[in-house]
Amino acid sequence: MKTPWRVGIGYDIHRLAEGRPLILGGVEIAYGRGLSGHSDADVVLHAVADAILGAAGLPDIGDLFPDDDPAYKDADSGGLVREVMRRVGELGLAVNNVDIIIHAESPKLAADKSRIAGSIAALIKVPADQVNVKAKTNEGVGPLGHAQAIACTAVASLVAAV
Ligand code: MG
Repeated sequence: MKTPWRVGIGYDIHRLAEGRPLILGGVEIAYGRGLSGHSDADVVLHAVADAILGAAGLPDIGDLFPDDDPAYKDADSGGLVREVMRRVGELGLAVNNVDIIIHAESPKLAADKSRIAGSIAALIKVPADQVNVKAKTNEGVGPLGHAQAIACTAVASLVAAV
């Protein structure tokens, strides 16, 4: 690695739909609706994966895991993150920390944030205090504010693996 540390950003959004489980950061959240998508539509893990890939200078998840590939139909996004970590490890890199904003008008996620952080930390093999999860409403504005979708923004920093 030419630099002592690297940073990357990831963003994703999925529509809320009836008849789907809501899975955020690998944690199933009790809610009447869930996110629609080809995989399990885990908007948080998708943003985290892109942040890590971006920091590593690798292609994004859309390139690595095409959403028209039957292999990823209803796929557990935890498997996707594990594959991202395998590729990052091949480059001699490890995750230092991840900071996450979940943009969700509903449900309220205050009680779930630490469980989500713990789930992500286990997937990317860092202590739980190196994953920070924030949840924000969109103040009732636009599609996010009308709870038509949930979005996630994530930043990751990588360091040389020891
Ligand atoms: Mg996605």
